[in-house]
Amino acid sequence: MERDYDVTVIGSGIGGLCAGALLAKRGYRTLLVESLDRWGGRLSTVEKDGYKLPTGAILLHRDGPLENIYREVGADFEVVNLPKTLHCRIEGKDYQMKLNNPLTLLKVISDLEISGGKLARLGGSLAAEIGKKKIQQTLGKGTKNPFARGARLNFREWLMQYTDNEVLHKIFDAIIVAVLVCHSWELPASEFFSYMTALGALADAGIAPRGNVELIQGLVEAIKENGDAWLSSPVRQIMVRKGEAQGIVVEKEGRDVTVISKVVISDTGPKRTVDLAGSDNFSRKYLREIRMRLRAGPAMLVLAASDAPLLPENAHFMVISGARRLVCAGDIALLCPDLAPRGKHLSYYCGYPLNSLVPMEVEWEKTQCQRDLEEHFPDITKHGEILHMGVHDVDSDFPGARAWPGYDMPPETSIKNLYNIGEGVRATGWSGTNKAATTAREVADMVAKTLDRC
Ligand SMILES: Cc1cc2nc3c(=O)[nH]c(=O)nc-3n(C[C@H](O)[C@H](O)[C@H](O)COP(=O)(O)OP(=O)(O)OC[C@H]3O[C@@H](n4cnc5c(N)ncnc54)[C@H](O)[C@@H]3O)c2cc1C
Repeated sequence: MERDYDVTVIGSGIGGLCAGALLAKRGYRTLLVESLDRWGGRLSTVEKDGYKLPTGAILLHRDGPLENIYREVGADFEVVNLPKTLHCRIEGKDYQMKLNNPLTLLKVISDLEISGGKLARLGGSLAAEIGKKKIQQTLGKGTKNPFARGARLNFREWLMQYTDNEVLHKIFDAIIVAVLVCHSWELPASEFFSYMTALGALADAGIAPRGNVELIQGLVEAIKENGDAWLSSPVRQIMVRKGEAQGIVVEKEGRDVTVISKVVISDTGPKRTVDLAGSDNFSRKYLREIRMRLRAGPAMLVLAASDAPLLPENAHFMVISGARRLVCAGDIALLCPDLAPRGKHLSYYCGYPLNSLVPMEVEWEKTQCQRDLEEHFPDITKHGEILHMGVHDVDSDFPGARAWPGYDMPPETSIKNLYNIGEGVRATGWSGTNKAATTAREVADMVAKTLDRC
């Protein structure tokens, strides 16, 4: 059996859905294929005992690249905003802080009273430095090429220039790990400042009140308006002839279907794309770049059900600094009661190993997370039940992040008309779902130009 489309998109992660919806909306016949029996990859929902469990992403930013794509394709971005209060647990002590703008976090750190106020002064001078010209200087050197000379400091080294206070280092590390999915000693400093600058332009963060899988349905519908979207259809091969992508071979209902298309877009991550197209078809330079550059970030996601709140009062979202592995937590049913059975709570806890370079020792990491949970949220043993402990390791199909910021790949491959999108692709300043959306828009624009020339 053979089918014909302008574009095929492999994978229905949020990157694939955004690219597919944009291209279908712009008039190109689009096919999106997904190997699983649900849409969304790491932005999806799995139902268990009446709870709607996220498969990865939980917090979504408003008014950023992702919501803009929803607007453009006419889909409803139903997200309930978190209150503008951030709960921070630092070395076991709790702080509630108002966060009018994400950048005020730096100011907030400066206001903390830790170590008898000593840290407050350190934090204050650091925030002032960051707030004035240091960001711009580092950005100027580092945004275009984080590997450029002079932009090579990692964030921990950058901070060391101002302070060796380990409490402060741990706070920054917890924030970096929670949002950029690698440690402060693994992240090029310039990437942190690019992220903070982009974040400063964003409005509130929120949660999809009926679950992620409901939120993404509008994008699936947008694709279907000018194409097709198939579930349970794993792509077996990207067809390449004379250095050019020609289409895909996909398994549908037990049969191989050949799909001819002018362009192939892969949301499976650059490494999987190479497997699907065959490494012999790529240039040695491209393969070397993937080998040398791409570094995934690991994560553990714990989801717990309970009769009573497990987090401190009104802690919709909290950052934890000074724990073994846990760096953030939140009670999502507090804000979005439809995610849990009536009267129940659904809380999440994110943990990270100390090293993002090599695969985890899974049982050891789980034990460390468990110890953190019992110490920081002791009611979990009385009122709680762990519904899910997800290991998103660096070598898994669904890592915490497909690439550390600055260690990601360009969207173009060395094969003509074959592009990568999603979180493994470079989009300076963005992380998570906004990063995937940014790469989707960039590739959709490039593909539209190519197709218009055909
Ligand atoms: C624990 C955790 C917490 C996170 N928290 C947040 C958060 O709070 N906020 C945020 O913005 N981001 C968060 N993220 C990151 C966010 O989930 C991702 O950035 C985003 O979902 C990336 O999507 P993607 O487009 O890269 O594709 P992915 O979600 O990786 O999806 C790829 C898709 O391709 C499919 N596929 C693979 N191979 C094939 C094949 N051969 N044929 C067909 N289909 C195939 C897969 O089944 C999958 O559906 C979190 C991630 C994790 C793991």
